[in-house]
Amino acid sequence: MPTPIGHSLFSVFVGLHRWKKNLPDDYWKILCFFIVLGLVPDIDFLPGLLIGSMNKYHHGVTHSIGFAFVFSIIFGYFYYLWKRDKNPLSYLAIFLVLFGHTILDFVSIDTSIPYGMPVLWPFSDKYFISPWVVFSDVDRGSFSRMFGRHNQRTFLVEVLIMGPVVWLAWVQAKNTKKIKNKKRYFIQGLVFVFFFIAIVLSLHKTVINGADISFVPLIKW
Ligand SMILES: [Zn+2]
Repeated sequence: MPTPIGHSLFSVFVGLHRWKKNLPDDYWKILCFFIVLGLVPDIDFLPGLLIGSMNKYHHGVTHSIGFAFVFSIIFGYFYYLWKRDKNPLSYLAIFLVLFGHTILDFVSIDTSIPYGMPVLWPFSDKYFISPWVVFSDVDRGSFSRMFGRHNQRTFLVEVLIMGPVVWLAWVQAKNTKKIKNKKRYFIQGLVFVFFFIAIVLSLHKTVINGADISFVPLIKW
């Protein structure tokens, strides 16, 4: 699974794209709301934390399309009470942020059993994980390892991949009038080439066979 920073970058990206050139004045409050939403599926760490085994209930039904659907209705209702926003795109964005968390985890390295997550629950209880992963995993072994080499590398890959697209979304949202079209297309082209190279460099082949997960990290860290 990506770090909370990786999930938050994705949430900001969805939020900026929802409003693009018409960012509301208090957009930062909405972006904060989206960031919190994007972390909600990881509430399944809490019961494990209470019994001293953090991963015990992780990657359960909170990482599924059913959970994303039900909770996008609940959070959508609170959002409606707050903003009185009737645009369906806002509610689609809320769903995308919630389900996007699962998709990001789906394309990440998972080293603990059960591998993957029940992405299609309640339609299927099966666990799914992508054979090709883009993001790395988070080492939660100890406090010092939280900030160790492994997690620094996980963080670097996330920033390399998500950073440029978030930045582009931000440029589009904030500088609409100041940037001429030619320059904008040039920046867009550069960012997407960079984004593509970063994904290719970070791709790992995951072989799931019992406890055997092998991968070839191309960015050495
Ligand atoms: Zn997660």
